[in-house]
Amino acid sequence: MADTFTALVIEEEAGKAHARFKQLRLADLPDHEVLVEVEFSALNYKDGLVVSGNRNKVARKLPLVAGIDLAGTVVESRSPAWRAGDKVVVNGFGLSETQFGGYSRYARVKPEWLVRLPSAFSTEQAMAIGTAGYTSALCVDRLVDFGLRPDAGEVLVTGSAGGVGSVAVALLAAADFHVVASTGRPETHDYLKALGARAFVDRASLQEKGAPLQKERWAGAVDVVGGQTLVNVLAQMKYGRAVAACGLAGSADLPATVLPHILRGVALLGVDSVSAPIARRERAWQRLARDLPAKKLADMTRVEPMSKLAELSGKILAGQVRGRIVIDVKS
Ligand code: NDP
Repeated sequence: MADTFTALVIEEEAGKAHARFKQLRLADLPDHEVLVEVEFSALNYKDGLVVSGNRNKVARKLPLVAGIDLAGTVVESRSPAWRAGDKVVVNGFGLSETQFGGYSRYARVKPEWLVRLPSAFSTEQAMAIGTAGYTSALCVDRLVDFGLRPDAGEVLVTGSAGGVGSVAVALLAAADFHVVASTGRPETHDYLKALGARAFVDRASLQEKGAPLQKERWAGAVDVVGGQTLVNVLAQMKYGRAVAACGLAGSADLPATVLPHILRGVALLGVDSVSAPIARRERAWQRLARDLPAKKLADMTRVEPMSKLAELSGKILAGQVRGRIVIDVKS
């Protein structure tokens, strides 16, 4: 084990957050029970916010190491639940918010944050999925638990060419749903078709202000955009159906009426990945292991070194990243 290792640290300077590569020692890490040698992390939208200095209520306790995801191997454990050599994943649980995160060769974490890496995946594949993909699985689980079945009709995915959207399209298609993808990037249609989308909606058509009740179309929906897009999706839901909402890539606002809810019994199911209980996480990872073919995952993923984090963060905030970015913390 080297004396020092590289980590991307967020520090406050003159009231502003700055991301800088620093050399840390193990003694600089928090005193949690499990030491993990990190192999891969990922770049999610939230990571983009933190790395670009737009803390936006994400990184709330500085200084800290950024990166909301990590996958690697346990090196030392003071907890009986984990042993050296165990392959593990952490998604959320405050990483890069109030706790040191995954853009670092080593991380000390609490035993209850860890999920055992499913045998179907390598640590690189686990981060190709990352928080975005695992959140997609949480969304699909919510819709299925609500009673959504493949014969109910079309299921819409907004922001479909992004990280959460891409995995949601693939998971829904694998479970035999008729997936309609909303995207603002027509050049991604072939990519989305290969993931399982059967039809497309231009995202601009969902961004215009519309009537509170519109023609009923969707049997289910996964929304990552929020704002007027989510309002229109709610207004277009079939009677008694549900939207799983997890994102705010467009807006955190919800300028809606209660009409879809009280006249059509439409449900808005909120999905949180950060504090989701372990049983729900394990179930989501089981869905991913069962329904996400390695080829589809590879087609939606690229691997990048930590040195490109600043540039890529700007791109993800501008909605220019297709699919998922894995960060190789070893390079
Ligand atoms: P990405 O940037 O990879 O994808 C977001 C997609 O949304 C873009 O690719 C684009 O899709 C679309 N989009 C971006 N900006 C706009 C806009 N202004 N109006 C309409 N559509 C837009 O991000 P992620 O997939 O990683 O995350 C998506 C959202 O989900 C984020 O808000 C993130 O914070 C949230 N999230 C929430 C979690 C939770 O626990 N609740 C966990 C993980 C993510 P296209 O090009 O196809 O139009």
